[in-house]
Amino acid sequence: MRFYILTLFPEMVMSGLCTSIIGKAAEKGILDIEAVNIRDFTKDRHQKADDYPYGGGAGMVMQAQPIYDAYQSVAARLGRRPRTVYLTPQGPVFTQRMAKELAREEALVFLCGHYEGVDERVLEEIVTDPVSIGDYVLTGGELPAMVMVDAISRMVPGVLTNEESGAFESFEGNLLEYPQYTRPADWNGKMVPDVLLSGDHGRIGQWRREQSILRTKRYRPDLLEGAELTIKEKAVYGVNDW
Ligand code: SAM
Repeated sequence: MRFYILTLFPEMVMSGLCTSIIGKAAEKGILDIEAVNIRDFTKDRHQKADDYPYGGGAGMVMQAQPIYDAYQSVAARLGRRPRTVYLTPQGPVFTQRMAKELAREEALVFLCGHYEGVDERVLEEIVTDPVSIGDYVLTGGELPAMVMVDAISRMVPGVLTNEESGAFESFEGNLLEYPQYTRPADWNGKMVPDVLLSGDHGRIGQWRREQSILRTKRYRPDLLEGAELTIKEKAVYGVNDW
């Protein structure tokens, strides 16, 4: 899978994505991550990529031409117009479901805005998916792009080990994951729940399922509406109560 990140700060993106699991997958060639420096496509001799907003107001706006040319350089290499995400607080909020769906693409382009944003005309030309990572405003799209590349990459076969990818994770079936423990069994007098030491996989599975439901009810009750619960579970955990 190939990721092309159009940015004014390529070193920020690459340093964040070249470590740990994602970095290793890139080293193995399972992922190809490239930061495309928008400034390399400016026609201005000072490599200026922003200007004042028409109509006045605070801050600067990223210009259309260098972004469009950076995008075209990627499209030309791919031989087609790739799916292109614009990181923006105005888009639908990124979810695990979106990550799964985007992971089916062979190549994705991410456009990172900065300052007050990007000239609307180039967004109209190249963006297929405006996406936000949450209802708050950041200084730039680089961190959101890194968040999305990380979450999408985990869905790409071979990025996680077989063991890791087989595990139940938060948001599967609209539930949060159960609590996790590791050695020692007694830490500062706090014991690991007995059931996890029992070796009884049936009971462990049941306990984990119960914890997932209770946790979701406590921290993210909004998810429960779409959760796959049996009638008995709904009754036992009082899920119909709100
Ligand atoms: N003026 C814009 C607005 O009010 O919608 C916000 C611009 S923000 C300061 C600069 C850039 O950061 C945006 O163009 C976008 O790329 C990125 N950004 C900020 N918050 C974001 C969020 N929650 N999700 C995704 N990208 C975000």
